[in-house]
Amino acid sequence: MDSARSWFQKFQPREKFRSPSRRKEGGDEDNEDTILEMDGEAHSNVTKQKVAAAKQFIENHYKEQMKNLQERKERRTTLEKKLADADVSEEDQSNLLKFLEKKETEYMRLQRHKMGADDFELLTMIGKGAFGEVRICREKTTGQVYAMKKLKKSEMLRRGQVEHVKAERNLLAEVDSNCIVKLYCSFQDDGFLYLIMEYLPGGDMMTLLMRKDTLTEDEARFYVGETVLAIESIHKHNYIHRDIKPDNLLLDRFGHLRLSDFGLCKPLDCSTIQEGDFSIVNSNSNGTTQNEECPSAPRRTRQEQLEHWQKNRRMLAFSTVGTPDYIAPRSAIEERWSLGAIMYEMLVGYPPFYSDDPMSTCRKIVNWRTHLKFPEEARLSPEAKDLISKLLCNVDQRLGTDGADEIKAHPWFNGVGWDKLYQMEATFIPEVKDDLDTQNFEKFEESENQPQTTSKTGPVEKGQHVQAFAFECQANSRARELFFIVSYELLLKLLF
Ligand code: ADP
Ligand code: MG
Repeated sequence: MDSARSWFQKFQPREKFRSPSRRKEGGDEDNEDTILEMDGEAHSNVTKQKVAAAKQFIENHYKEQMKNLQERKERRTTLEKKLADADVSEEDQSNLLKFLEKKETEYMRLQRHKMGADDFELLTMIGKGAFGEVRICREKTTGQVYAMKKLKKSEMLRRGQVEHVKAERNLLAEVDSNCIVKLYCSFQDDGFLYLIMEYLPGGDMMTLLMRKDTLTEDEARFYVGETVLAIESIHKHNYIHRDIKPDNLLLDRFGHLRLSDFGLCKPLDCSTIQEGDFSIVNSNSNGTTQNEECPSAPRRTRQEQLEHWQKNRRMLAFSTVGTPDYIAPRSAIEERWSLGAIMYEMLVGYPPFYSDDPMSTCRKIVNWRTHLKFPEEARLSPEAKDLISKLLCNVDQRLGTDGADEIKAHPWFNGVGWDKLYQMEATFIPEVKDDLDTQNFEKFEESENQPQTTSKTGPVEKGQHVQAFAFECQANSRARELFFIVSYELLLKLLF
């Protein structure tokens, strides 16, 4: 089995790793001795470095243990003080202290245990994407229900998504906010990366919109408002969400909205298309240009457009490129534009630039000035139209350039208690029968030879990952090999 070091050695400048036979060919004994001495020196340096690293590791480990012990003592002292000050019987005091100790022991055990896919019983599939799937699962020891997102490593590497997973994992782990889905742990095996998240049984906004067609302005105000707060909350942590769209807006048990899916699936990139580019993209074989107003599809009534969109949307959402309907003309990371597109869809029934094929949608987005229209039948209030128009516009005029307060102050939101929005009763309280209820999600077909888990018990040795990556490398050119090695390093940093 190849070790990480041997992989790195393969890519060092040749001179440093000349084989003995190769050196003999050179025939320069003095030079060879010097090389041997240098090799010896280099080896002893490597040994010294290893010793230093091991020493550092052990020191850190014990420092960490001492710190944990100290913190544990402090927690006990604090509880003892609080109990002494409170009016609690001796028996209750003793029980509470015992309870704390039990929790502390459990916590330490959990810290020592490295989680793996086999720690979970896999249950119903609730999502399927380009990189893998999402299922509800039950932790075998505790019976606790979670959502497990399982991502295929080879697919992520092939698409250069490793950095995005890292960002997703870091954001989920770092940001403790009501507006963001909570991450409990992450681990990997030979073929997959796993994110274990809280299960949000209310379903996603895409499913809600498919079931409801349109929302009233009051209903939409609640969800758009919570999305504004959620985006604001991740901005405070210096993150941006690359992919704001209805299927990434999840609803918790009480119907409140949470952001998820931080930057995995990069949608079709319209950022390179400029206004006026249609003549090139859309020209037919005669070299004449088709009219952008009437692309391949005939003009439809709002009802026909709605039906067409509903038929296509799930397929688009799960395709490898994703749907471009929510991306901004020049920047794929413009969240306020996406917010405008989602608000339009909630009120009209389909997104503002929907078209038969993603490329036409992209072209419409770039030429938004001619394509942004509000169907009469949708009866949007003037304030709603105004807000949408101020979100779906040129970036320098877009509302929110000076922060979320600008959006919050728009007249469409008049009367919204921003500080209390997440505490108030939600617009719809989802029906959830029990912990395993998935009625608010679409049904997904299980493929026949669906493996329950992919691997052996528990986490695997680092070397095994190298082997998996080595396999990928063999099929590629040297440049790609180097790329994979770098990706491998990132993965190690990400998961260990
Ligand atoms: P992808 O990168 O494939 O879009 P997502 O993280 O968006 O992956 O998950 C796909 C779908 O799975 C979501 O649209 C949602 O329906 C469901 N889902 C994802 N995470 C959760 C969760 N924590 N709780 C409930 N459903 C979830
Ligand atoms: Mg998603």
